[in-house]
Amino acid sequence: MSTTDHPTTGRTTASAPWGATVLGYPRTGPRREAKKALEALWAGRADVAATEEALAAVRARTLRRLNALGLHAHDASIPSAASSYDHVLDAAVTLGAVPPRFADVVGPDGRVDVAGRSTIARGRGADAPLEMTKWFDTNYHYLVPEIGPDTAFRFADDSSVREFSEALADGFLTRPVLVGPLTFLLLSKPVDGAPAGFRPLDRLDDLLPAYADLLAAHAAAGATWVQLDEPALVSDSATAGVADLPGLVRRTYERLVALPQRPQLLVAAPYGDLGELLEPLARTGVEGIGLDLVRGRLPEVDADAGLREALRGTLVVGGVVDGRNVWAGDLPRALASLRALEGSAAHVAAGTSTSLLHVPHDVADEPQLDERLRSWLAFADQKVAEVVVLGRALRDEASVADALAASARVRADRAGAPGVVRPEVRERLAALTPEAFRRSDYAVRRSAQEEVLGLPLLPTTSIGSFPQTREIRAARAAHARGELSTQAYEEFLRAEVDRVVALQEDLGFDVLVHGEPERNDMVQYFAEHLDGFAVTRNGWVQSYGSRCVRPPILFGDVVRPEPITVRWAQHAQSRTAKPVKGMLTGPVTILAWSFVRDDQPLGETARQVALALRDEVADLEAAGTRVVQVDEPALRELLPLREADQGAYLEWSVGSFRLATAGAADATQVHTHLCYSEFGEVIDAIDGLDADVTSIEAARSRMEVVPDLARQGFARGIGPGVYDIHSPRVPGEEEVADLLRLAVAAVPARQVWVNPDCGLKTRGYAEVEPALRALVEAARTVRAELDGHDGSHGRAVGAGGRAG
Ligand code: GLN
Ligand code: ZN
Repeated sequence: MSTTDHPTTGRTTASAPWGATVLGYPRTGPRREAKKALEALWAGRADVAATEEALAAVRARTLRRLNALGLHAHDASIPSAASSYDHVLDAAVTLGAVPPRFADVVGPDGRVDVAGRSTIARGRGADAPLEMTKWFDTNYHYLVPEIGPDTAFRFADDSSVREFSEALADGFLTRPVLVGPLTFLLLSKPVDGAPAGFRPLDRLDDLLPAYADLLAAHAAAGATWVQLDEPALVSDSATAGVADLPGLVRRTYERLVALPQRPQLLVAAPYGDLGELLEPLARTGVEGIGLDLVRGRLPEVDADAGLREALRGTLVVGGVVDGRNVWAGDLPRALASLRALEGSAAHVAAGTSTSLLHVPHDVADEPQLDERLRSWLAFADQKVAEVVVLGRALRDEASVADALAASARVRADRAGAPGVVRPEVRERLAALTPEAFRRSDYAVRRSAQEEVLGLPLLPTTSIGSFPQTREIRAARAAHARGELSTQAYEEFLRAEVDRVVALQEDLGFDVLVHGEPERNDMVQYFAEHLDGFAVTRNGWVQSYGSRCVRPPILFGDVVRPEPITVRWAQHAQSRTAKPVKGMLTGPVTILAWSFVRDDQPLGETARQVALALRDEVADLEAAGTRVVQVDEPALRELLPLREADQGAYLEWSVGSFRLATAGAADATQVHTHLCYSEFGEVIDAIDGLDADVTSIEAARSRMEVVPDLARQGFARGIGPGVYDIHSPRVPGEEEVADLLRLAVAAVPARQVWVNPDCGLKTRGYAEVEPALRALVEAARTVRAELDGHDGSHGRAVGAGGRAG
């Protein structure tokens, strides 16, 4: 280990010991061992001790694996970044921020075991769980800590120290990974009943002593480095309202740097561009900084003497290997970026842009994939190997010349492979005119739709899926195993559709759905039916807690070989005179929940998917479908973290939705569904989608979003959810009616639709049937009230001359 004088502190600090590292590694285990352990605990099949043992085995395997892949065992280049449920929950527990309603799960020693963490994450009877929300622009969900003026911060739970010591005893000197103090507070929300204007960040001075104790404990246990993750610093929305962000960064880290007993600090800023904050952070004297050089820009050290001076002697982990996607990296290019950083006289190490939490474990687990496609891929294990090669290259490029050349060959092979570029797709996109993105004026569409649909005021509908029963899952699994013939499986599905249609007729719905029994997942289903996508067998990625998803891989130009949903829509429509909605997943959501090719702009890929969907819409219309819904629940998720990038995103994302839907005839009613209620940043985009009807989540927030949309001048159909499907609770008719009264007080009744918050697939019929009955009854009640005292509300969107 060499030593340098830090330019700011003047202190002699140990410099970069490692040449390569990763910011984190998948936590589920290659066969989802951690998920299975948690679920065994929840099902009562395992006790706490057995569960913690199973989780420890996953951690031990990770250490060995990372070491075998080339990360050094004794220099802190291997992160200790496990979590039994969620790392933000871990931070809350570590720092004593357990909500009072869960105080009993904290042990006398301050520890919260895996059962206690599960309780906080999942709730218990009347004790609501911590709210869950998306982690930056990823499909991972974290638990939102609740911080109040009285939260008693302290270094309470020492699990992270014990895990470090356990690894050390096992022969690995690791680098513990913790959520940094700024990100912890910026991602928290005020407790219910906190004084107006209170922000969790107001508590920073009280929080830092808990970090001081935590860091001291790690140092005492022998940790030489700790990684503090500060992704909030790359997000404009996370830091909105902070007056002097550079000053805040400076004050916070100067205090941590000045602590008498602490490990060296690597402050990582994954998921985006640290921008202007890099220099103040470097000047605090933290020993290391992790930069995301995939999403973030390469700092211009050549042009900026101040920055060069600030970085001198700092360890910069250049996050050149993409932690969020599955493509083998362009190593020569990555190396060039690292070399550019070396110009700043920083110690440069090769790293990942983010934790590898967002990618599956190992490409070798996918023997069924086309061999050529497989050679283009890098999952977590392959990415570890990439940072190791780059780390060696920094020291001795000749020693890895073969690996660098092989990387260049792979990229070239991919570019020229069949299916990656299809001229017919490119030509069709190039020939599009602005008309392809535009429908007639809404007024024209509305009267055409009223004529065709003849709907009452406050029309009732649902979001698409009906409960995915045990029988449906069993039939799908049997079909996948080859035990149930395709013919028998499809017969089963048709019978299921018949049942769901009959139920909706019986309940009195106005616009019906077929129930989506044929879909395992709203994105994977389309990926399986479009060319240009591949699906994996073991490519699981944690979405939250024990929930894992298997995102498809979008590798080539997108083509729809044949209609996908038409026969299901047609079959459902043949069973009823009421309109049945055709049900599609939108281009942005298909991109958001897939691993997307990185060799062309996202907008271009989105337009290719949109064209395939546009053809599907046309085929649905030709088959007699009068209402088509295109779901875009991920529209907000992909919103760039930096405001400066948001305009361009909204342009292509809204454009791709319009390209998918604008081929529809005036009389075809286009619906969309968005899965959340906080619109703030995307409210204009919702208008821009130009859907005839937009359904959104609203039950929990008691229709809060409806007046917001009204203020915005939103004039088309809107279906604020009146049944919270995220809870097993069955709402009563009066409760639903009250929500509807709030909605019609905020916008003209003719705009209002009546529907649940989201699809019903995770619920059981025992709850869904009475809830939907209440929903239809409530619509009738409020309809009658409106007819009774005020005819001026007019007719529903799509009402054919009848008003209720
Ligand atoms: N149509 C889908 C369903 O009902 C929509 C799901 C979603 O928005 N996530 O399941
Ligand atoms: Zn939804």
